[in-house]
Amino acid sequence: MIIKLHDLYFKPFITAQEIDDAVSRMVNQIAEDLGDEIPVFIGILNGSFMFVSDFVKKYPKPCEVTFIKLASYEGVKSTEDIQRLIGLTQDLSDRTVVVLEDIIDTGGTMYEIHRIFKNQSTKNLKIATLFYKPEAYKKDYKLHYIGIEIPNKFIVGYGLDYDGLGRDLPEVYQIKTTQYMTNLVLFGPPGAGKGTQAEFLKQKYNLVHISTGDVFRYNIKNETALGKLAKSFIDRGALVPDEVTINMLAAEVEKNSGANGFIFDGFPRTDAQAKALDNLMISKDSQINAMIALEVDDQVLVGRLLERGKTSGRPDDADESIIKNRIKEYYNKTAILKEYYAAQDKYYGVDGVGTIEAITQRLAGVIDNLK
Ligand code: AMP
Repeated sequence: MIIKLHDLYFKPFITAQEIDDAVSRMVNQIAEDLGDEIPVFIGILNGSFMFVSDFVKKYPKPCEVTFIKLASYEGVKSTEDIQRLIGLTQDLSDRTVVVLEDIIDTGGTMYEIHRIFKNQSTKNLKIATLFYKPEAYKKDYKLHYIGIEIPNKFIVGYGLDYDGLGRDLPEVYQIKTTQYMTNLVLFGPPGAGKGTQAEFLKQKYNLVHISTGDVFRYNIKNETALGKLAKSFIDRGALVPDEVTINMLAAEVEKNSGANGFIFDGFPRTDAQAKALDNLMISKDSQINAMIALEVDDQVLVGRLLERGKTSGRPDDADESIIKNRIKEYYNKTAILKEYYAAQDKYYGVDGVGTIEAITQRLAGVIDNLK
């Protein structure tokens, strides 16, 4: 899920599991190299607190742990020269010292580390960093242990912050640099008015409207392979299998790569589709902003669909038992998605009974308040 810290957006980048694996690898390597030596692990605050904690919990042999801090002196503008490491009070003579850094990018801190340890007659000084940006590193100091190499982009989480926020996150997020999209899932049972409202909303907010039902009908009309496959399911009011639908949806999104955002209408209809949609949005550096549901009673729906069937030419609108099957499919398989989006705080219910304009206004009220 995309997160916002202050004014910036960040996307998931390295999972807690991947971090844990990297920490374990570093622990094993260092424990093996140090043998029976009792090392002093020195974390550089604030960023390394989480890494150091996880690292020493895994470390299989006795060790000492301490921290030093980078402090900048106030009142001076340039940061690089006046940052100093403070807090080292321990005697490190003849000790094996391993500095544990959360991240090394330009290597500015490395200079400080070597400056502060220059006069300590340590037996050994090793540098270990969980994250490393090879493209940014400008110094010659050797880095003895590296957890994960990352591209030169700003990250937060697992101890790393953006202006104070994000240190507490158990996973790592990367700054999102592409254009911000508004992506809406328009939701509700068949006949709730999703198609009608989507027409207005796509104009008003300059969004691309993707109706999976429309795409299927287009393919059926043109007798494509996809159309032939989908027809048997659609004709009896059943859902088309997830794999088929998800691939089709991804292709539709791909066709509109410059879009300002999307209105998804008729998708997702299952849990698997919702997860696939989240992943698709992440791959676009984006997210679903809201599921907006049109709430309409069943009796009203059947009446509306039979009425529409007189002119829509849709076989699945003409027969009351097929209509009931579609509504049943909605409650059996689709309605659970309300929970999926509610759990992410993205569910918005809107009364779907009233004039078209009144309902459009209710929807716009929700969308305008999203930002
Ligand atoms: P609709 O126009 O949204 O009412 O969709 C008409 C029919 O297309 C549905 O009854 C399903 O058979 C099929 N369909 C549309 N969207 C999906 C979806 N997301 N997953 C599976 N089947 C779908």
